[in-house]
Amino acid sequence: MALDFEKLIAHLKAQGFIFQGSEIYGGLANSWDYGPLGAELKYKLKNQWWNFFVRRNKYNIGIDTSIILNTNVWKASGHLGNFNDPLIDCKNCKSRFRADKLIEEKFPNVNAGTFSNEELENYIKKNNIKCPKCNEITFTNIRQFDLMFKTFQGPIEDDTAKVYLRPETAQGIFVQYKNTQRSLRKKLPFGVGQIGKSFRNEITPGNFIFRTREFEQMELEFFFSPNDKYNWFDHWLNEVNEFLMNELKINKNNYVIREHDKDELSHYSNKTVDIEYNFPFGRGELWGIAHRSNFDLSQHQKFSGEDLSYLDPETNEKYIPNVIEPSVGVERLMLALLCDVFYEEKINENDTRTILKLPIKLAPFLVAVLPLQKKQSSFSINLFENLLKNFDATYDETGNIGKRYRRQDAIGTPFCITVDFDTELDNSVTIRDRDTMNQDRVAIKDINLYLYNKINN
Ligand code: ATP
Repeated sequence: MALDFEKLIAHLKAQGFIFQGSEIYGGLANSWDYGPLGAELKYKLKNQWWNFFVRRNKYNIGIDTSIILNTNVWKASGHLGNFNDPLIDCKNCKSRFRADKLIEEKFPNVNAGTFSNEELENYIKKNNIKCPKCNEITFTNIRQFDLMFKTFQGPIEDDTAKVYLRPETAQGIFVQYKNTQRSLRKKLPFGVGQIGKSFRNEITPGNFIFRTREFEQMELEFFFSPNDKYNWFDHWLNEVNEFLMNELKINKNNYVIREHDKDELSHYSNKTVDIEYNFPFGRGELWGIAHRSNFDLSQHQKFSGEDLSYLDPETNEKYIPNVIEPSVGVERLMLALLCDVFYEEKINENDTRTILKLPIKLAPFLVAVLPLQKKQSSFSINLFENLLKNFDATYDETGNIGKRYRRQDAIGTPFCITVDFDTELDNSVTIRDRDTMNQDRVAIKDINLYLYNKINN
């Protein structure tokens, strides 16, 4: 059954995952805040990425660079000047659109991202594309729009104080390439990962948390010798695929791997692949994997005057390494994950349950302690506090037990421990599995082992 997107959004709000930003002031367009469970999920998702791509990867290391960089960085990277979108306004209702997206929404098979402004204007005219808001056909000419957020550093707001918020985390890695490589004496090939906020003044943000102006990215820049014949592109594409399938358990039928056509590639890239997820509003880019050649380091070498080449200790050759970049947005990945795990299940004729089948390692709570009756409260609170020493646990004693199970299903808690009348007699509890709803009787002394086994299976 198709996923009801509005229902998912309402569910995430009600359960404390995602709230509208600045809501009590009427909101701020397309800004979202992460509530107690959303913050936890986001944190775990980042941790999972960091573990997989940085901490437990034999090639890679991680860094954390600033959001505001020297403006010359953006000149070198090509963002200043190039990082803009073709915009078109409806003269009638004053709505503003990205011209390429306007075409692609009407004609999904057309790759309008590769059109020049003139081609975009002609295509819109020739095909009588109407304004999606008011249905009129009175568009302005296309104007390029700068996507970088500007601000001023220091008290005086003049041109010399103008700085930009980074539109991607990658450039911080390139700018610190030499320090990073030298400090840990890294030999090629090696990668540098980073997680952090990025800002893009998107023209058409929307589709919930899919496209926002403030977001977080998880990027890896993997450096290797131009003489290295190993297929690092496929290597990282496979790693990304494995991360999606095995770590996040995303159903592989819900995404496709699409290689960019030659005319769609950035000028510096000789291969780019997008992993596109089937979101409820249509298929959209989830994760991009790009071969960036040696473009970025060469540009920074040119603009900074700093030698960024690598001296190969074996061949004594000097060269600027090539780079493969897998790049993904935290919120976009979280949205794909939430779409993947949101289910409404019929339990019997009169009962359904809403459930988030989150992987065990990502669920905000691993385990909930539920005393069957108030009488078992103090014993249960004690158990809960003990569990907190090792696990992400929660406690709930209000409402009947069926309702409490539903509440935990709705937020994705994999295990519920019920303390019942027999617990104090047989020193055991019942542990219910979220997905199967099967229950095991487990001795209290074995609970930790039971949970560790589940986490590691
Ligand atoms: P799109 O075509 O959707 O605008 P892009 O090609 O500009 O994306 P990249 O520059 O390749 O995106 O960024 C890498 C990743 O960062 C994307 O795959 C996506 O997951 C995430 N991302 C990019 N822009 C946004 C945004 N405005 N909001 C949320 N995530 C984003």
